[in-house]
Amino acid sequence: MKLNKVFAVIFMAAIVMFLYLKIPLYASAQTTAIGFMDKPVSGTSLIGTQKVYGWFLDVSGVEKIEVLVDGTVVGEAFYGDARPDVQKAYPQYKNGEAGFHYNLDTTRFIDGQHSISVRSTGKDGQITTLPASTITIDNALGFLDGPTSGSTVNGTQNVYGWFLDKSGVGKIEVLMDDAVVGQAAYGDARPDVLKFYPQYKNGNAGYHFALDTTKFTDGQHTVAIRETGKNGQVTTLPANTLTIDNAFGFLDKPSAGSTINGTQNLYGWFLDHSGVAKIEVLVDGALVGQAVYGDLRPDVQKFYPTFNNGKAGYHFALDTTKFPDGQHTVTIKETGKNGYGTTLTNRTVTIDNALGFLDKPVSGSTLYGTQNVYGWFLDESGVEAIEVLVDGTVVGQASYGDARPDVERFYPQYNNGRAGFHFALDTTKFVDGKHIVTVREISKNGTVTTISDRSITIQNAFGFLDSPLTGATLRGDHNVYGWFLDKSGVAKIEVIVDGSVVGQAAYGDTRADVQRFYPEFNNGKAGFHFTLDTAKFPDGQHTIAIRETGKNGIVTTLPANTVTFNQKAYKIFLDPGHGGSDPGAVAGGYKEANLNLAVAKKVQALLLNQGYTVYMSRIDNTYVSLLDRSIMANNLKADIFISIHTNSTAGGGDTSANGIESYFYEFDPDYPSKINDEWHDNPDRIAKSMKLTTFIQQNMIEYTGANNRGTDGDTFSVLRESAMPATLTEIGFINNASERQKLITDSYQNKLAKAIADGVIEYFKVY
Ligand code: ZN
Repeated sequence: MKLNKVFAVIFMAAIVMFLYLKIPLYASAQTTAIGFMDKPVSGTSLIGTQKVYGWFLDVSGVEKIEVLVDGTVVGEAFYGDARPDVQKAYPQYKNGEAGFHYNLDTTRFIDGQHSISVRSTGKDGQITTLPASTITIDNALGFLDGPTSGSTVNGTQNVYGWFLDKSGVGKIEVLMDDAVVGQAAYGDARPDVLKFYPQYKNGNAGYHFALDTTKFTDGQHTVAIRETGKNGQVTTLPANTLTIDNAFGFLDKPSAGSTINGTQNLYGWFLDHSGVAKIEVLVDGALVGQAVYGDLRPDVQKFYPTFNNGKAGYHFALDTTKFPDGQHTVTIKETGKNGYGTTLTNRTVTIDNALGFLDKPVSGSTLYGTQNVYGWFLDESGVEAIEVLVDGTVVGQASYGDARPDVERFYPQYNNGRAGFHFALDTTKFVDGKHIVTVREISKNGTVTTISDRSITIQNAFGFLDSPLTGATLRGDHNVYGWFLDKSGVAKIEVIVDGSVVGQAAYGDTRADVQRFYPEFNNGKAGFHFTLDTAKFPDGQHTIAIRETGKNGIVTTLPANTVTFNQKAYKIFLDPGHGGSDPGAVAGGYKEANLNLAVAKKVQALLLNQGYTVYMSRIDNTYVSLLDRSIMANNLKADIFISIHTNSTAGGGDTSANGIESYFYEFDPDYPSKINDEWHDNPDRIAKSMKLTTFIQQNMIEYTGANNRGTDGDTFSVLRESAMPATLTEIGFINNASERQKLITDSYQNKLAKAIADGVIEYFKVY
């Protein structure tokens, strides 16, 4: 029990020492042994031989002290070192030599983290283990100075750096892409390394290695250093990434996007640290030959002096005529003496050996007869044939060799003064309409070059149907006529009504107008005519078309005209009196000519509505001579003639006269007919004229309530010279103020017009 008291005091003292003297304390729970490992302390880095030391006190006495690394005993420490400090702190042990020490050779262990601890065995057999220190063993370290990561290297590259190893450097290997390529020489003076790591006591830690980069393909690689210490430990430094670029070059000509022809000198330069074995030329990826290497290139030498190569140039004569015209890629592929290939980026060029132009026909032109197709063609390899195609089909071969000094002047490099071609194209072999003319050249080397298509219109046969025009109303026999031109000659012209052939027109009428307009057809008798009996068809709408067949057998149909057949479609000729320089009677600011025209237009509208064909001697305020009015009606073969006038008393003095009067023709020997000998006094014409005059006069009186001045015969020019029943009506007196006021109104004019129109209708009910 007394002993316990003693130990209580010891513990107290130990605690006091721990707190105030900072003497570490450890006591076994089971034994009366305490100790401490002074070195190494946790967190330190060890190299070479490191002293492990501390002290141990055991009341039973210390049997042995073992040193453990990572839990394994590595040796026994010497025990008995003088430790007066320990004796002073623990006087009760009466032990002045409690120290232990052990020389630990750290090179026996792999670099890295380890635990070191000390284990004591007392003479009483009790084992006490002191807590372990965690330390780092760092015997081997180094650095790869060059080549640095990211650098580009070529030729023989000095790989160098330094390495320190406490166990001694066994060997330093150089690895490329993780494979050993050689062993570096070790022992280069590196005072800088010694200064930084004096504890290694090594002033010759440098290593170097001559790396032949030409043994590797150009591109990215990794270089790494692996050291093996004399203790057998292997240390690998992190790899540096570098780019090897031993072989590179340039294609000077042809430049990208250029157009080449004939034999093209292809040239550039190439540098290869391993030496150039060959330079191949490829077109569109296929080998076409090997360039000559060794041309003087002082410019390249100047730019890349490290290659020490003044003859880096290459050249190749490329025969472009071996390739079809168009876009191609040119590629240069170098093979080094190290067997590695380097390919330059593809160059895109246009080969244009064959070029030409089709001068005629131009696009959009209209062709007929035999057309000269001509142009020119140049081909470095020679022109074998020039074919002319229509709509994609070969129609013949052009003759080549026409003198074309203009082409030679423009393309002197082709040295060809007879590049012209020509071909007589017989367009009558083709249907009229749109066609494509193409010219295709076949070169002596077999390549085919097509000149852009020309869109043309062939028009060998064309014509026009002059009568009847669309909208016409026909009655009885109608003269269907027009003209037709056909370069192949007109075989026949058929008249088609409603899609059915009704007959063949006579061809060969003189048509000077057509000849004047189309002199190139040289045909003055292009007219045709055909008498169509419209009465053979029911009244109503019909189509009339003309179909021509050429002597080449090609049929051309003119667009159909739409007409109306109406056997009751009588032709009325309305003649508003006076006009233009002849105003007729004038009163109160009004002119007779204008009143006549106003009423005539209203009659025209009413009769057109009834299906009649209506002609007018004038439709505006223009002058027409009296005789011309009859000539017009006669030429038109009008069925009746109605002349509309406004009355006035002679000299205009008597302003009281009023009312309506109408006239038919009455022969007067003082006024012989000028153009109407046959019909002017024909009794039938006179009888019909009187009937027409009466119908109109009666209606006018009835509709207007005007004063009836009756009907009478007279030899007015228009009544005399018109070759059909004719009447002339005086619709009222312009110089009578009150009648004039009526005549100028729309409503009164409507009454007069309706009276005339109804008179016409009544007349045709009789005749
Ligand atoms: Zn008159």
